[in-house]
Amino acid sequence: MKIVTIIGARPQFVKAAMVSKAIKDHNEEGKGKISEIIIHTGQHFDANMSDIFFNQMGIPKPDYDLGINSLTHGAMTGQMLEKIEKVLIKEKPDWVLVYGDTNSTIAGALAAKKIHIKVAHVEAGLRSFNMHMPEEVNRILTDRISDVLFCPTDTAMENLTAEGFENMHIKIVKTGDIMLDAAKVYSNYAVQPREVLGTNFVLSTIHRAENTDSKEKLKNIFSALSKIASQKQVVLPLHPRTKHYIEKYDIELSPQIKIINPVGYLEMVWLLSNCCMVVTDSGGVQKEAYFFKKPCITVREETEWIELVEINVNFLTGSDENKILEAYHKVVTNTMNFDINLYGNGNTRETILKELLSN
Ligand code: UDP
Repeated sequence: MKIVTIIGARPQFVKAAMVSKAIKDHNEEGKGKISEIIIHTGQHFDANMSDIFFNQMGIPKPDYDLGINSLTHGAMTGQMLEKIEKVLIKEKPDWVLVYGDTNSTIAGALAAKKIHIKVAHVEAGLRSFNMHMPEEVNRILTDRISDVLFCPTDTAMENLTAEGFENMHIKIVKTGDIMLDAAKVYSNYAVQPREVLGTNFVLSTIHRAENTDSKEKLKNIFSALSKIASQKQVVLPLHPRTKHYIEKYDIELSPQIKIINPVGYLEMVWLLSNCCMVVTDSGGVQKEAYFFKKPCITVREETEWIELVEINVNFLTGSDENKILEAYHKVVTNTMNFDINLYGNGNTRETILKELLSN
């Protein structure tokens, strides 16, 4: 069996690393040969947003590096479509595997579908119900043209049912969450970032376009983080997009916020293990907070991981400074239950591979 894996952005490296591991284990156990061809679209390209994940997580070196980045959505997706199609025509895989909700996801799925190559979508069925998010558009369209949808949660399954996917000749499989695999595999290999000395800090990551693209929202979020930092150390690995906008909007950052460069996955695992709570607008980091039993304040208006809000471990505040500070006080004064199994058992990679082999 031959699989072409299409990745391009940081969260996709973390997820694809786990399926690559399952493929490697399968081949080494003599269960038959699966060949994996990796296309890196180039959407994320900095060493600390890309290479470090390949090195730390043992992802095979990409067979094709398309180098497409820093373009508008249309130009980026269009160039990817054209270049991915060429590779697929040459490689003739049995499956194209796409992850999540980026431009690389939709470009990969569309290129494959048009030339009748089967598409499997990992992290299918998620919805924010906010069509202004580029991610929402990408994930809905990718789900619709896939042959197999691998859903992480009951919520994802319910979303697909509500949209009538069961009548669309698409196989839908609940697999659990592939990021839990990564958290489990790497939790014993955590690396303390050099710049971070103590523990029990607030870990923050901010990068969603809906926040970075608005001066007011970004200002409010950083103002709330500054107030939190006057009480507790805040550690913030700064995404390049957010860095760009902080400079562009001339937002003043409190010196009490410990800004560090984006870190590798092993450092992130250390930060998640040693923090007391998370403030983020990331999709993946919300779940990782739960995996590491940490409360999370989500500075967005909605989340794809609504089950975390329902069990009161994740608090949606948007970019409203007062709401963020209220949630902070709620988190420091309450104990929370992190023992409900929402995301499976950390063997999602094997379920995915088994399905690909049997279809
Ligand atoms: N991550 C990381 N280093 C960082 C920030 C995030 O390794 O400095 C990891 C994080 O732990 C998670 C993934 O990157 O596994 C999530 O990526 P991101 O927040 O960029 O994307 P999203 O999940 O919002 O799509």
